[in-house]
Amino acid sequence: MIDEENRKMKKCDYCAKEISYYEQYCDEECEKKALDFYSLREKYTKVFSIINVIGVFGVPVGLFLSAIDAVIGFSLTAFSLMLIGITVIVLPFPVENMISSMKIKKAVFVTRLIGLGFIVLGAALFVLRILIFK
Ligand SMILES: [Zn+2]
Repeated sequence: MIDEENRKMKKCDYCAKEISYYEQYCDEECEKKALDFYSLREKYTKVFSIINVIGVFGVPVGLFLSAIDAVIGFSLTAFSLMLIGITVIVLPFPVENMISSMKIKKAVFVTRLIGLGFIVLGAALFVLRILIFK
């Protein structure tokens, strides 16, 4: 019963299209794209982590600084948010359980959307900063 279910649910590791139980990808193109994704991730995972750590630290540091100097503090927070967003869009590496539930193509898309959200948030904060603190 469970086996039968699995057989039906098996999906391409890249595009999530339904495939037969013995395949991993629906075609060569998906296989190539998946391999490209994995090698890109392997190559840049350190860079990705380092930039993200800087960004993630920059947000609270900026908020803290804003109590002392609003212009510098808010600018740093806005810059950090945009840095995270740009990094995530250029190097979209979703967490592992996103990949296993959505498969690579959709997980990368959702990750980029989240990155875009960070950029919009950062930009909005920056505009706010300019409007409020001149
Ligand atoms: Zn596919």
